[in-house]
Amino acid sequence: MSRAPALLVLGDGSLEAARRVRGGIEGAAIHGLAGRTTGADHTFAEFGETIRTLFRDDVPIVAFCAAGIVIRALAPLLQDKRAEPPVVACAEDGSAVVPLLGGLRGVNDLARRIGEALGTAPAITTTGEVRFGATLEHPPAGYVIRNPGAGKRFMSDVLAGERIRLSGEAPWLTSTRLPFDPAGRLAITVTVRDMAPGERELVFHPRSVVVAVGADGSDLTNRIIESLAKANIARQSVAALVALERDVGRPEIHAAAAALSRPLRLLPDGPVSELARAAVPDAIEQTGDEAVAIAVAASPLDVDAIGRARGWLTVVGLGPGSRDTRTPEASRALAEADDIVGYQTYVDMAGPFPPEQAIHASDNREELDRARHAFSLAANGRRVAVVSSGDPGVFAMAAAVMEALDGADETAWHGVELCVLPGVSAAQAAAARSGAPLGHDFCVISLSDNLKPWETIERRLDLAASADLVLALYNPISRARPTQLGRAIEIVRKHRSPTTPVVLGRDVGRPDETVRQLPLGEFTPEMVDMRTVILVGSSTTRAVPRADGSSWVYTPRWYRKR
Ligand code: SAH
Repeated sequence: MSRAPALLVLGDGSLEAARRVRGGIEGAAIHGLAGRTTGADHTFAEFGETIRTLFRDDVPIVAFCAAGIVIRALAPLLQDKRAEPPVVACAEDGSAVVPLLGGLRGVNDLARRIGEALGTAPAITTTGEVRFGATLEHPPAGYVIRNPGAGKRFMSDVLAGERIRLSGEAPWLTSTRLPFDPAGRLAITVTVRDMAPGERELVFHPRSVVVAVGADGSDLTNRIIESLAKANIARQSVAALVALERDVGRPEIHAAAAALSRPLRLLPDGPVSELARAAVPDAIEQTGDEAVAIAVAASPLDVDAIGRARGWLTVVGLGPGSRDTRTPEASRALAEADDIVGYQTYVDMAGPFPPEQAIHASDNREELDRARHAFSLAANGRRVAVVSSGDPGVFAMAAAVMEALDGADETAWHGVELCVLPGVSAAQAAAARSGAPLGHDFCVISLSDNLKPWETIERRLDLAASADLVLALYNPISRARPTQLGRAIEIVRKHRSPTTPVVLGRDVGRPDETVRQLPLGEFTPEMVDMRTVILVGSSTTRAVPRADGSSWVYTPRWYRKR
């Protein structure tokens, strides 16, 4: 399935057109130039770098600006026409739609869909497409070309006047202006059969086959391949693998779906023997056994209509605040999710989200409940992103999600595709702002005694400080425990000189960021709140004057006992 396009907008003047396109293309998101656009889904700082990164990441691009700007920005990357995503330039008011690149990846289709949304005819320039209304190398969804390498030669033969013999059924071909003729010297064959194309033949495989996997799954991928071979069915014709919901936890099924690069669909529990028939009630052909059954439909299948998808749950680290420090994979997961689950503040930080995405923001600190809720959504086939600030594995949702899974009775939860995406943690962000205080061994401690006894915290602080580790202290203080930070500072002072550099990073990466540096001897609890991370140097941590009168703090990589 092709990915949703990024709509690049350079100013508010194009927002209305971009919104119309977004409304017509599922999953499309508007990326606006920072400072020039308001209300985009994402912002970017620099056009050239952004469009090149999207291009390298294989994301379809729709840029609302002059075609020349797009061409110049992408020129250094244009090497391999098979590897390029679709790229379309649109006039900023939506009055022109020009497919530029990605001819083999459906750019004309994309341009047509944009054209429909904008009420503008796209400027299609591909010769075959113009003369015959078809791009053979890019068949519509539901068909796969078996020998794309032969497409160019084939098309130039057609342009030179050769005629085409068609066997098999494909409405999208017969509705074109291609010169079909039973006596033609060229051939197009549409078939689920596993056949090698002839010299002047293009073979298209309709995605009309379902492979149902049942009870015993040992060596499943090979058994599927053998069953397909026995039935003389091309692998390319497989539309989906189907399995029973109760089997979703079996890894060999996912390995087989990955090996075939086809989606897995889940059907409600029932007899395995009925699985293929349940997936394709009007099958024209059915073979196989209890382990692997094959059903062939008369035409390409709408995979989304078969049972349901396997849900996924991705725990996303948002980084400390600004989007610039969020990883591209985290942004992608947020864009692809059906549901966003998290603490209100972090959901706000992750957004804004388009209305199709369901937001489950809560104001309480019941992380485990939130994790369970996320699992129950994902176990029903939803794509769920659970958001955390910073890194989700550092005093955050990833551990709560694992805890919810640990020992959960619900088999469906174990079948959810689970993934954790890292983020820049507060200590790292504050460290970078102040130099390199974490340049040598360091240790991360939360001062919150919500989930652990205060004595444990005191003991760990004492041991870590006596081991001369740099300390990164999270959750330093709250209204419920106003005195503990004072006690923590006392413990550290037993082991460190009063000149030890301390860094206080508050709201790092957010609009109200402050990062200050001071000697341990001057540090008092009133200087911090819950939105602060504290870094306390080791005996080797040093301050270096900065040009602006403040100083850099760093901990050397070497270690010499003083
Ligand atoms: N998962 C988060 C930490 C969550 S615990 C991370 O990896 O950063 C919450 C604590 O993290 C806060 O009390 C504060 O100590 C620290 N923190 C989180 N974001 C911060 C930020 N932007 N600036 C400073 N401290 C932050």
